[in-house]
Amino acid sequence: NEQVFRSSLPPVPLVHRSIFTHLLGTSPITPHLVGGFPASSPAFIDATTGLTISRGQLRSFALQLAHSLVNPPELLRRQANAAAATRPTILIFSANTIVWPIMLLGASAAGFTTSLANSGYNSDELKHQYVDAGAHLIFVHPSLLDTVKKMLTSIGCSDMHDRIVVATSSWLTGVPDTEISDTLGFTRLEELLGRGQLTCEVNFDGERSGETAYLCYSSGTTGKAKGVQTTHYNITSVIEMAKPLWSNTIPCLAPSLAEVVGPEQPDVVLGPLPYCHIYGMMKLILLPIAVCTPSVVISGFVPEIFFKAVEKYRATSLMVVPPILLAFARHESINKYDLSSVRTIMCAAAPLNQDLIFIVKKRFEKAGFNVAVVQGYGLTEASPTVFILPDKHAYHYPGSVGVVIPNLEVRLVREDNGEGLTDIEGAGEIWIRGPNLMKGYFNNSSATAAATTDDGWFKTGDIAICNKDGFFTIVDRRKELIKYKGFQVPPAELESLLLQHPDVADAAAIGVPGTEATELPRAYVVPVQPVAREKAASFALGIQEWVAQKVASHKKLRGGIVLVEHIPKSASGKILRRELHNRAASDIAYG
Ligand code: AMP
Repeated sequence: NEQVFRSSLPPVPLVHRSIFTHLLGTSPITPHLVGGFPASSPAFIDATTGLTISRGQLRSFALQLAHSLVNPPELLRRQANAAAATRPTILIFSANTIVWPIMLLGASAAGFTTSLANSGYNSDELKHQYVDAGAHLIFVHPSLLDTVKKMLTSIGCSDMHDRIVVATSSWLTGVPDTEISDTLGFTRLEELLGRGQLTCEVNFDGERSGETAYLCYSSGTTGKAKGVQTTHYNITSVIEMAKPLWSNTIPCLAPSLAEVVGPEQPDVVLGPLPYCHIYGMMKLILLPIAVCTPSVVISGFVPEIFFKAVEKYRATSLMVVPPILLAFARHESINKYDLSSVRTIMCAAAPLNQDLIFIVKKRFEKAGFNVAVVQGYGLTEASPTVFILPDKHAYHYPGSVGVVIPNLEVRLVREDNGEGLTDIEGAGEIWIRGPNLMKGYFNNSSATAAATTDDGWFKTGDIAICNKDGFFTIVDRRKELIKYKGFQVPPAELESLLLQHPDVADAAAIGVPGTEATELPRAYVVPVQPVAREKAASFALGIQEWVAQKVASHKKLRGGIVLVEHIPKSASGKILRRELHNRAASDIAYG
């Protein structure tokens, strides 16, 4: 009998169609159009060189790559044959480059699943994803080849030439790639292009639209990272469902904003989000293609380089996470560049302090521009959009993550799971049901069953309240997850690693608030032997450094280490994280 929240906007029509067809399809009647827009329109621009690929070129490169994936050269044939019996899956392991969209769409055109790995992973972290996803090919940036070699060696793979494609972009940009490892003898991406071209993409229309297109990794509410099966239908649906609200994100979608921007100021999207995260992939690759807005390719956030690119490419829509928005509020270099083209800034993927929204808006206002700062909430399992806060409401509903997107149903469930819900009135766990909800965790039916009800509701693990006008505010997180600068840090991973340290008897990891608009991973550690007070700092530092050598940068224990006599646990042995959160501010953390 609980209330179900729905959008006040009417449901939008959805299509059961392949992602590739939806974005880059052509028709014999209108051969000059690709995905409904002129083939010559710019699709991606390399921030460093300005090199641009058009929609038509993107389609052609993707179909060339698809041809080679379906008809591989001799060297890659063994793996391809082995994969043909199961589901062919490629894994992309590269920071953002202009060839990334070619790989993503090429795999899609070939009918393959693509697994997206964080380019900061070390070989152990990569191994988990590579093995779990059952990938047969790895597309790796030359600078990361060593990590892949080490990973493949660790799983006993002696000949790795048949499963690696070196994802170079120098053939396109003319700028040499950083190659710290010997790439000789490995297939290079450009060798897979120009061998022919599929006449059309492998079709996933109709019932096949329920097949998996992407495997991003998320820890969900508990445990280690799991493969989230995102289908063709999930993606084509979420694009359509969010369009009415994305009009506040990408000006060309909103007639009123388009008027402001004018024809001489076309929309340009720019963001330093990694493409391997579904937020980056959606907002910087798929959505810009869907609405024919060029997207500037940039890797990582270096304020000086980023603001310079905003100026150079006259970017209108910026996609960021809270710590980057903080740089907008504080960083000096923002004053050095002409940012007058910016119309909207979208911030999502982690909790955002409402004051920051106002500070950033004021900073732009001072320079004479009115900028919309839009907050979004979502998660990998929802492909990823759930709520969007239209800018015009930011002042009325400060702190809110916005309203539910059309075609999606939301419940706030107040049941207590034993850990205790927050005592804020009306707060409940966000449950969602709709076309953008993942198919399930890959090869992990127990995790899928634990996260989903029989009638199709997915339990997000986030706690929210909703006001009378349908605006949601996230007030707490019930799930274990820590988010560092928008990146997932699964506590279970840190805990099992810490337990491998010879001096650690027990451990728990939580996120604590940091000063840079992000949570910081902190560990509570029970030493095997009692540690004298004067030795506590160096003991903790030793463990902190040990962990730092074994994890990707975003998982480092930047929130320090607290030494304790025992970890609070329930009768069933579950870590009582709430208890640790409650005392975190008064605990003495070393490091
Ligand atoms: P991911 O699957 O990596 O996108 O992480 C999803 C999780 O990030 C959500 O379940 C939330 O815990 C958190 N998150 C995303 N957006 C927001 C937001 N706007 N405010 C608070 N938390 C958020």
